[in-house]
Amino acid sequence: MISFALRNILWLIIYLFFILAPLFVLLFGSLPPARSFWTELSIALGYSGLAIMGLQFGLTSRFRWVTKPWGEDVIYHFHRKISFIALGLVLAHPLILFVIRPELLALLNFIAAPWRARLAAISTYSLIALIIMALWRVKLKLSYEAWHLTHIILAVAAVAAGILHMVAWGVYLVDPVKKALWCALALFWLTLLPYVRIVKPLFMLRRPYRVAQVKVERGDTTTLVMKPEGHQGFRFTPGQFGWLTLWGSPFQITGHPFSFSSSAEASDGSVEMSIRKLGDFTANVSRVAVGQRVYIDGPYGAFTIGNPADMHVLIAGGVGITPMMSILRTLADRGDKRPVVLIYGSKDWESITFREELDALQARLDLKLVYVLTRPHEGWTGEVGYIDAGLFKRHLPPPFDMHEYFICGPHMMMDAIEQTLAQMHVPMSKYHTERYNFA
Ligand SMILES: Cc1cc2nc3c(=O)[nH]c(=O)nc-3n(C[C@H](O)[C@H](O)[C@H](O)COP(=O)(O)OP(=O)(O)OC[C@H]3O[C@@H](n4cnc5c(N)ncnc54)[C@H](O)[C@@H]3O)c2cc1C
Repeated sequence: MISFALRNILWLIIYLFFILAPLFVLLFGSLPPARSFWTELSIALGYSGLAIMGLQFGLTSRFRWVTKPWGEDVIYHFHRKISFIALGLVLAHPLILFVIRPELLALLNFIAAPWRARLAAISTYSLIALIIMALWRVKLKLSYEAWHLTHIILAVAAVAAGILHMVAWGVYLVDPVKKALWCALALFWLTLLPYVRIVKPLFMLRRPYRVAQVKVERGDTTTLVMKPEGHQGFRFTPGQFGWLTLWGSPFQITGHPFSFSSSAEASDGSVEMSIRKLGDFTANVSRVAVGQRVYIDGPYGAFTIGNPADMHVLIAGGVGITPMMSILRTLADRGDKRPVVLIYGSKDWESITFREELDALQARLDLKLVYVLTRPHEGWTGEVGYIDAGLFKRHLPPPFDMHEYFICGPHMMMDAIEQTLAQMHVPMSKYHTERYNFA
């Protein structure tokens, strides 16, 4: 088994190879006459910024071998952070040139500038707009779907215009072999989009699901039981999720991610997703009719249990119970008796989703349930408030760094628990998280 640190280093090397290799290719063969250090540096920064921007398509193309070691939430987090570095590099390119050759400032006049400079402006402005919209989507009152479509258009504009600017101006790309290599790379980046938007949906179209049952659950939650139609379905490991398209075809730009809440041992390939009412899409899930055709792209995610027999501590807040439910149901179906503690934060007693089934599962598992309520009813003697170190110490046996922790819930709760575990000297390799927000 590849160790945690080695895996991180390998991934970093592969990532850096994809960023730097296109840059180093430029240094082979015939070279243009040398220019000042600052000019060369600014060009190198521009090329690197573009390489990072292009590779962003690879990060978000739902390739399992890219996301599996980390989980989608980590990859999307990286995608967001690295785009600031790309913006910095792309902006540094013209800024350095403006400082050393102020006459180039005239190129900022979009009307008078030649096309090769206009392309650079289109690329840079698209990238700036993309980042502003990603940072302030909620403040700008953009729906997720509108933002997602605009994000894709701006990303394609930024990369395509950047490449065209580079080819049109590129002193280093006069050599036809280098030009062909860079154009092939750019084409590869941009064809990832049709792969995700056309090829993958075509596969999904041939593998539809039917809603077999719609179950009303506690806590404003609806469970959809979906059976594969004309195919075997897919295998998933408990804790993973899929992208659901409920209305319309898989060609729709925006699918919605939901954890599987069912057992991974279902023999007929059926899967369940339990969905809490939150916004426009989720509010309509309870109205889905039995027999409706739906599409599921999956499985994805690294939030899964392995084989260790250590105590598993599942920490759920609100609808973060869904992957935990899949884990518990699967362990029960497998007759797996590893010790499990479920610490489950809910608003009140009535909104504890799956409460009755959880109680029943205690008979089939080595399971301890700890409910934590923020609005307890009169006479409640259990845990109240937030999940903290004190609560862990009351319910978990030491040593705390020997258990495997799985955390899923609201961001604030997850941040606080991660901090608490760090303070309790639990190494990062011992806790696993699933964040329900990629944006
Ligand atoms: C890996 C993962 C697993 C999830 N599992 C569950 C689950 O089991 N049960 C459950 O109830 N919820 C789950 N969610 C959350 C669920 O995807 C969102 O609540 C839902 O998509 C919101 O859609 P909406 O249109 O109803 O709400 P909106 O008000 O449109 O969105 C609320 C927020 O959800 C996020 N969001 C909206 N649409 C998407 C999208 N298409 N892709 C990614 N994020 C989006 C945005 O940050 C948005 O601000 C999961 C999310 C992720 C990332």
